[in-house]
Amino acid sequence: DTIGANLARTVAAFPDRDVLVERASGRRWTYEQFSEDVDAVALGLLDLGVVKGDRVGIWSPNCAEWMLVQYATARLGAILVNINPAYRVHELEFVLAQAGIRTLVSATTFKTSDYAAMIDEVAPKCPALHDVVLIGTPGWDALLEAGRTGHPAVLTDIARTLTADDPINIQYTSGTTGFPKGATLSHHNILNNGFFVGELCGYDEEDRVCVPVPFYHCFGMVMGNLAATSHGACVVIPAPAFDPKATLEAVAAERCTSLYGVPTMFIAILNEPSLDGLDLSSLRTGIMAGSPCPVEVMKQVIERLGMAEVAICYGMTETSPVSTQTRASDSLDRRVSTVGTVLPHLEIKIVDPETGVTVPRGTPGELCTRGYSVMLGYWNEPDRTAEAIDAARWMHTGDLAVMDGDGYVTITGRMKDMVIRGGENIYPREIEEFLYTHPDIVDAQVIGVPDEKYGEELMAWVRLREGVPDLTAADLRAFCQGRLAHFKIPRYVHVVDEFPMTVTGKIRKVQMRAEAVDILA
Ligand code: ATP
Ligand code: MG
Repeated sequence: DTIGANLARTVAAFPDRDVLVERASGRRWTYEQFSEDVDAVALGLLDLGVVKGDRVGIWSPNCAEWMLVQYATARLGAILVNINPAYRVHELEFVLAQAGIRTLVSATTFKTSDYAAMIDEVAPKCPALHDVVLIGTPGWDALLEAGRTGHPAVLTDIARTLTADDPINIQYTSGTTGFPKGATLSHHNILNNGFFVGELCGYDEEDRVCVPVPFYHCFGMVMGNLAATSHGACVVIPAPAFDPKATLEAVAAERCTSLYGVPTMFIAILNEPSLDGLDLSSLRTGIMAGSPCPVEVMKQVIERLGMAEVAICYGMTETSPVSTQTRASDSLDRRVSTVGTVLPHLEIKIVDPETGVTVPRGTPGELCTRGYSVMLGYWNEPDRTAEAIDAARWMHTGDLAVMDGDGYVTITGRMKDMVIRGGENIYPREIEEFLYTHPDIVDAQVIGVPDEKYGEELMAWVRLREGVPDLTAADLRAFCQGRLAHFKIPRYVHVVDEFPMTVTGKIRKVQMRAEAVDILA
């Protein structure tokens, strides 16, 4: 199915149910109203000359218009290019040129970002860029106005020219391990993935999904928006960008049944003082994904937020994103210690990264996945595509994982993060889990730093509980002594207030490694 056809079916089934609530403005849409506005935006873009295959960039924090543009471009068969709201001129220029964006929809300003000024600076250098439409300005109103006076019958004609395998989305990876890559995704890729994620969350038209994660990332636009709209559920936008207080207020006020976040967001939510005064009893489920989740955080999410059915998902932008997910029926132990089992109609296997041969169950190796979720390729990068997807269409994820006898997968780290100390392969994740059990540590990240004797040595970056003055390497080593193998005990400790993060809430170990070299110099 195409995304437009799928939306039309939901609109027909649940015309009067809410589909979208924007808390910051108090605006809300039923499926019927939403569909009318999507058509208006689509016709407005058409009026600007946007046709099938054209790239339309969206550069904005979360807002209702983001979602309207998402479905409007899908309706036209135009390719939506998600642009990270944290980007600055240099990165904007890269994306505009790399994707050949014709029309850019953006916010004017947000927090310290003056989008309009940055676009003005970059636009003259981007000849492909035809039109810029700024949300909340007369330009946006004019687009809607043109759309409202257009002929919806045109959209029916366009729908006949679209197929589910057409590219409709370019999403750049988080850039955790290097420079972002533009994953090109089809209707088929992301609609199916959103649908199955929603199925496993048990969504129906009664569900209200609180989405504080960025729409620009697949977590928001696929696991949030598409999972919801393919089931008649409602998306609640708590704030333009993540804010723990606004998120909790949105859950309470809108009686949300589901809440999303990466582990660091859930940590912030659990530490939010207003938490205990709010009625969160509507919460049933939710998704935690994006990076490894400490067991303790998971337990608190279930107990204190009441998210009894919370799921862990594992995936990557290149695979639409989700490959594995825990089920509500899984034991608590499996939901805290694994990323679940493969999604329906997908395949996964764990291979020896050197030989490519499937390893026995219980043996770590590189996770590979195949099926409807695997992207069409990296936009305009055939070489990198060929490195990632092999001739048999297996996507090589670069993630290290173990699969147990029942098919449950545990992610043990990234191939690029693995530390090799004196010939010993060390998975930082295991040490991080252990450091969480230290009473003064709220968050811990372990990296490898260059070392003359061992090749690499371990360095722990830690965030300490409020009021704890300091933690020395000697203190930490004493804590680890006798409980971790000697070669896994970090040699260095660095106390920080925050870790360097990507906007999707992932910790940038590349940057930590670079900073560590300076710290130790
Ligand atoms: P880049 O590819 O640009 O370096 P990135 O891989 O972080 O950045 P994304 O596609 O946003 O970009 O993230 C996918 C990665 O996130 C996965 O490959 C995996 O390493 C990690 N990840 C996702 N979900 C989980 C999870 N539940 N547990 C552990 N790691 C996860
Ligand atoms: Mg990646």
